[in-house]
Amino acid sequence: MLKHLFPLPLFLISLIAWAEPLPIQEIAPGIYVHQGVHEELDEGYHGDICNIGFIVGHKGVAVVDSGGTFNIGQRLREAIRRVTDLPILYVINTHVHPDHIFGNAAFKLDNPSYIGHAKLAEAMERRKETYLRNNTAWLGEAFAGSEIIKPTRSVDTTLELDLGGRTLLLTAWPPAHTSTDLTVFDRDTATLWTGDLLFIERTPSMDGDTLSWLKLIPQLKTIPAKRAIPGHGPVTEQWREAFDNQQRYFDILLSDIRSSIQRGVTMEKAMDSAAAVEKGKWLLFDTVNRRNINILYPQLEWE
Ligand SMILES: [Zn+2]
Repeated sequence: MLKHLFPLPLFLISLIAWAEPLPIQEIAPGIYVHQGVHEELDEGYHGDICNIGFIVGHKGVAVVDSGGTFNIGQRLREAIRRVTDLPILYVINTHVHPDHIFGNAAFKLDNPSYIGHAKLAEAMERRKETYLRNNTAWLGEAFAGSEIIKPTRSVDTTLELDLGGRTLLLTAWPPAHTSTDLTVFDRDTATLWTGDLLFIERTPSMDGDTLSWLKLIPQLKTIPAKRAIPGHGPVTEQWREAFDNQQRYFDILLSDIRSSIQRGVTMEKAMDSAAAVEKGKWLLFDTVNRRNINILYPQLEWE
């Protein structure tokens, strides 16, 4: 039997390596985005919930976030190869969350620079075990081949990447959505990849420092971008309004929790009531909002 199988004809080898290219959209010249679906990060999760994509210059390609599994990364790579044969020079991770980083391994053979916030490597190391355990439980076979790949180049404040004919400006931010948030700005098309500093449609989830995130929003809004690619949700030119929506949710949530604490309402009760007026304005609200309260309430108790 084996002697019939080996050596494999070339077309069979390419079939084995083949992954269905992810659907992508060219949202500005040379900027391609795949929009993830709004699913929870546990039940029903398929590893494809955030926005990932790539930017093409004359010299090569930069990937911005690689998806939640090796397979999604492979499918993103296939999508790139349908567009260009130029080398994949950079794989940028906008932050540590598993839906954004577990496709990194699909680009190993391209030998790119993996780029992230100065605190990303340490955050990956600290969360490695939990992330691998949880994602294996959620995704089973679909998680096969996924691994943590840390940045080989890190961004302390800002970093410019030359893709040939276009320069990307990467900015590392203080703790906000996480302590590893990085934005990517393409000057050529005035397009801003916000990572999860901006959520559209999906309820913003909190993990870093929400008070400092709130303070950052006015500063983020001054970036001279014509359009933004949020971490989750549709690409939009009305991105400043989207930041305003997010700020409104944060303001209401914080003020409701503070007033619960003052009135002696327990966290369990506050989880049912805080920011309830925002329900209906966001997707996956019940679970994500409760999780946010669970994180914020104990912090605000010490104010
Ligand atoms: Zn995130």
